[in-house]
Amino acid sequence: MTHLAETIDSNKIPIGISSCLLGEPVRFDGGHKNNTYIVKTLGQYMQFLPFCPEVEIGLGIPRETIRLVENKEDIRCVGSKNPQLDVTEKLIQCANDQQIWHQSIYGYILKKDSPSCGMERVRIYKNDQPQRKGTGLYAQQMMKNYPYLPVEEEGRLGDPVLRENFIQRVFIFHRWRKLLNEGAENAEGAEPAKITEFHARHKLILMSHDQNRYRKLGKLVADVSKQETGTFCEQYLAELMSILKIPASRKNHVNVLQHIQGYLKRDLDKEDKNELTETIHQYRKGLIPLIVPITLLRHHFRKCPNAYINNSYYMNPHPSELMLLNEL
Ligand code: SF4
Repeated sequence: MTHLAETIDSNKIPIGISSCLLGEPVRFDGGHKNNTYIVKTLGQYMQFLPFCPEVEIGLGIPRETIRLVENKEDIRCVGSKNPQLDVTEKLIQCANDQQIWHQSIYGYILKKDSPSCGMERVRIYKNDQPQRKGTGLYAQQMMKNYPYLPVEEEGRLGDPVLRENFIQRVFIFHRWRKLLNEGAENAEGAEPAKITEFHARHKLILMSHDQNRYRKLGKLVADVSKQETGTFCEQYLAELMSILKIPASRKNHVNVLQHIQGYLKRDLDKEDKNELTETIHQYRKGLIPLIVPITLLRHHFRKCPNAYINNSYYMNPHPSELMLLNEL
């Protein structure tokens, strides 16, 4: 089973997902783990491409449960009751066989705790003592094949910071690919000027994740026209997605907000300046969410436009209906 390009809805962002999270009865006991937030809320913007590796490798429904077991040489995925049932290679091969559609997606939502799909902290058994230190084998191979792909578990999407981080990465990766696809229509590939513009529009977001690495990436971009475009793009994407994976801290957001405030120093009167400073201060103390200082800044930049700030995705990172900034 594979997902074909023709089935992709061009109005939504294609995202891979563990089938059971969409309510498909594919679990070992014939049940599912339907996740309403994913289906109803994220489903407005994302087209989910469901996939169940255990069904794909022919384990059937219902089926014997499998688990990760550590032995002297490696970690195997075997039947919980019947260790002779070893599906290690099949699960790894299954991820490799799905590369055609994995290449066309912008993120993947995985079911936690699964020896096939779990992203982290999956139980590994050694002498029947489980330790939560494993990764599902299908998920592990997919992440090895596509290290830049935004991947998250459904359980962690309940955390506002991790949820916003995943969705932000999906939207940025989607914009990056769009830029490359547009560039592919020209003989020379993506133009350096477009790449520089892309970077400029994401600078403040990068600052909120890691200031040092944001500066280093800026140096790489400054040399974009001296490098072969394909090599540059690979390097840039790897570093971009790696920086974005670091959750943005409140401290870093405060730095970015103050940095943006600096662009208004000649435009605001004393009262407005004090109000903005106080709003950022209240955000720093955790008394108000990030959406409050950002809304105030948007208001000021509507009246006193600045192209760099107004075009920055930091000011509008994802659809406001998702209300992700309201919980940061
Ligand atoms: S967690 Fe993965 S393998 Fe298990 S039922 Fe869901 S999709 Fe299938």
